[in-house]
Amino acid sequence: MKEVGSRPRLLLLMTTTTYRAHAFLEAADRLGIPVVVGSERAQVLAAANPAGHLTFDFASPEAATRTIVEFAKAHPIGGVVAADDDGVILAAMASAALGLPHNPVAAVAAARNKYRMRLILSESGIRSPRFWSFPIDQDPAAMARQVEYPCVVKPLALSASRGVIRADDPAQFIAAFERLVAILQRPEVAGSGRRSAQAILVERFIPGAEVALEGLLTAGQLRVLALFDKPDPLDGPFFEETIYVTPSRLPVAVQDEIAAYTAQVTSALGLRHGPVHAELRLNEQGPWLLEIATRSIGGLCSRTLRFGDGLSLEELLLRHTLGLNVDACAREKSSAGVMMIPIPQPGILREVKGQAEAKQVAAIEDIKLTIPIGQEIVPLPEGSRYLGFIFARDLTPAGVESALREAHRRLTFVIRPADEPSGQVEPPALVAAPGADTLPLLGH
Ligand code: ADP
Repeated sequence: MKEVGSRPRLLLLMTTTTYRAHAFLEAADRLGIPVVVGSERAQVLAAANPAGHLTFDFASPEAATRTIVEFAKAHPIGGVVAADDDGVILAAMASAALGLPHNPVAAVAAARNKYRMRLILSESGIRSPRFWSFPIDQDPAAMARQVEYPCVVKPLALSASRGVIRADDPAQFIAAFERLVAILQRPEVAGSGRRSAQAILVERFIPGAEVALEGLLTAGQLRVLALFDKPDPLDGPFFEETIYVTPSRLPVAVQDEIAAYTAQVTSALGLRHGPVHAELRLNEQGPWLLEIATRSIGGLCSRTLRFGDGLSLEELLLRHTLGLNVDACAREKSSAGVMMIPIPQPGILREVKGQAEAKQVAAIEDIKLTIPIGQEIVPLPEGSRYLGFIFARDLTPAGVESALREAHRRLTFVIRPADEPSGQVEPPALVAAPGADTLPLLGH
């Protein structure tokens, strides 16, 4: 039976492992919007509030859409938001079924598959690197002869740079291919039943500085909410995200060029409505798209953004989803940034020293460690998580960047080999102090 006089709910799609739950739920709370959480597993309190929870398989969006439509007959839904990549196709499909503004499902699906995205962009005449796709059971030596170097070997649909590896010659290509295939065959990837795990993508390596664009589409028009510089060089062989700083220090004309190019990308893909998060490289030829996701920025990074008189990114997005006007909400004047703390080496995280000292660095707002002490940590390219996030806000982007680096320098991560019994006092721990010579096994 339909509820009488109730306000339409917002359906928030998120996996139970998302970093994004808190920010979206808090935003809905601040806006006074009733929320239904849709996820792949029943929530702890679902039984106490069945109208607040839905459970379905994100990998079967047609069936999940039927569940949502049935639910909406009794509990009207006024908007659907996907917190992460896993929910974006379902969000588009469910919005279509409910008659809500949305991206075409095919456009979202194209953005979710890096090979399809490359095909569409190159066919549309948009600046793109040469690229090849191969099934994972093909002979890598034959592929190594077909591709051009330097190149990047990558999965079609993973995220956080997991499995992305640079190769400068055929021998490196074969090693990178085998390492990526092993990742694709891990149970948590292969077990998800993704067909995209059966093939890999190879792209020419695009040299240049990297930026991230946070945007919002309304009726096909792209508005840039924020442009982040990534001041650390990302030359491989693995590509750890570290520092993001906004506003960009690039000349305004270059920023405009990035915005115009990204708008071409969204229109070529057929994207029309809702958030986009794009990663791009820049060189003398102009901007080059690396990837575009039809969701907002991942991890805890959205904490760097504030709009209008203090609106969070999630509040702005929820207002937009419900059809409210957000045109006047510009990003605040101050500079802000985040460091995703990279994992320096594999092992068990035993201790993080220097947190109080790191928080004392002027301009540092907060430090959030997201891997509990005692857990195994896995660096790229196999890993998919960061040790945590450092947040800074200051008058200038340079001030933000140096505060993030100084705070990171003050942290020491004590990591012991995974096979060492815990509680052992000797031998000495393997200590990775960021900034010290002992550190990066990986490119920083
Ligand atoms: P993910 O979705 O896992 O983040 P991306 O395709 O965005 O994967 O690649 C992750 C990172 O790898 C990029 O941010 C970039 O630093 C690097 N990268 C990926 N493709 C290329 C390329 N063709 N040329 C240069 N760097 C690349």
